[in-house]
Amino acid sequence: MPQANPKRQNSQTAFAKAKNLIPGGVNSPARAFHGVGGEPIFISHAAGQFLFDIDGNRYLDYIGSWGPMILGHAHPLVIEAIQKAAEKGTSFGAPTENESRLAELIMHAIPSIERVRLVNSGTEATMSAIRVARGATGREKIVKFSGCYHGHVDSLLVAAGSAAATLGVPDSPGVTQGNSKDTIVLNYNDSDSIVETFRKFPTEIAAIILEPIVGNMGTVLPSPQFLKTLRGETTQHGSILIFDEVMTGFRVAYGGAQNVFGIDPDMTTLGKIVGGGLPLAAYGGKSSIMDNVMPAGKVFQAGTLAGNPLATAAGATTLEILRDDPPYAYLETQASRLGNGLKSAADAAGLPSQMQRMGSMMTLFFNEAPVVDWPTANRSDRKRFAKYFWGLIEEGVYMPCSQFEALFFSRSHRPEDIDSTVDAAHRVLAKLD
Ligand SMILES: *Cc1c(COP(=O)(O)O)cnc(C)c1O
Repeated sequence: MPQANPKRQNSQTAFAKAKNLIPGGVNSPARAFHGVGGEPIFISHAAGQFLFDIDGNRYLDYIGSWGPMILGHAHPLVIEAIQKAAEKGTSFGAPTENESRLAELIMHAIPSIERVRLVNSGTEATMSAIRVARGATGREKIVKFSGCYHGHVDSLLVAAGSAAATLGVPDSPGVTQGNSKDTIVLNYNDSDSIVETFRKFPTEIAAIILEPIVGNMGTVLPSPQFLKTLRGETTQHGSILIFDEVMTGFRVAYGGAQNVFGIDPDMTTLGKIVGGGLPLAAYGGKSSIMDNVMPAGKVFQAGTLAGNPLATAAGATTLEILRDDPPYAYLETQASRLGNGLKSAADAAGLPSQMQRMGSMMTLFFNEAPVVDWPTANRSDRKRFAKYFWGLIEEGVYMPCSQFEALFFSRSHRPEDIDSTVDAAHRVLAKLD
């Protein structure tokens, strides 16, 4: 049953307190609801498909901690693995066999990864991959695409310059011209600009990094031509192709987007699901590249808590469940029902929209035209999205709090949960103008 006007008094008090302690009251800006206005909801606990807030309201969860919780919250086997690991000590600063157990699971799932390093966050994974790519090639320039997010790495927090295929400019105070000057920013799905950039800098580009399916400007799929051009041009010019699969790895398929498209990158970054809900991420690739990492090679990268025993236990247990009892067919069936349902709700309300989806990640864009890159994404109606978001919150459905994020759901979401979400979207959208 939808919950009418859930009370949020305790959240308001908690947020007022947090704002005096933590910048903006949150430890990551995506949680602050700036994309939709209003104040964040403080969570007390979660179970399966549900989030519970500190005012006692229950929500069907469509963010899944922004990706990791593909099995649902507090999966009994994952919790048990974490408890058992904790009893044996929480960090040693010395190698454990569980790190190899997780590394084997990763390499088995994603055969393009021949060596893998475990780190603590997706940001660390992409930062390290870029450093290794530069170290391995002896080149300095990198290429990224606007609208793709790779964590808060200085050289990747860069916006496009004024002309196409020119060098980037800092996208945040604190990122220096020096950090950004070797980053070239192009439009996603623009194959011609890749060719043009290699014509301009044939031997200077260390790597191209991209989300092979974008989640971070909302869900945007790559055209086959785009991926083909990327693979062809990087190979031809001796540049390293990095797929940032922090979001898509183990989400769109067990083997990630590279498995879906049948394209092997030279390096891959992973995060989110690979840590089973604990802080763990990874980067890996061809051994000829990864053997540059210290102590096998000379590129420095380290971590006091890297390969943490609790995190490897949660990650390995999650991957084993996904491997032995794959949820992907179920997720696809329910995702197709959810995607079609949300789209028809917008259609029935006469609101122009695009449903863009790959497996259990999707975005309903309030947009007249298909979204293929950041300029088209940026034309979406954020005000309408904000009303949609808050309307669904009132209905007990917790969607991502931005038009430019993908929603996720889990194997714990039942078909009737999907139905009630679609019904709620019909009620909410019918009231919007
Ligand atoms: C979430 C995300 C990151 C950053 O990971 P953190 O663990 O938040 O540092 C990097 N790349 C992609 C594609 C992501 O979705």
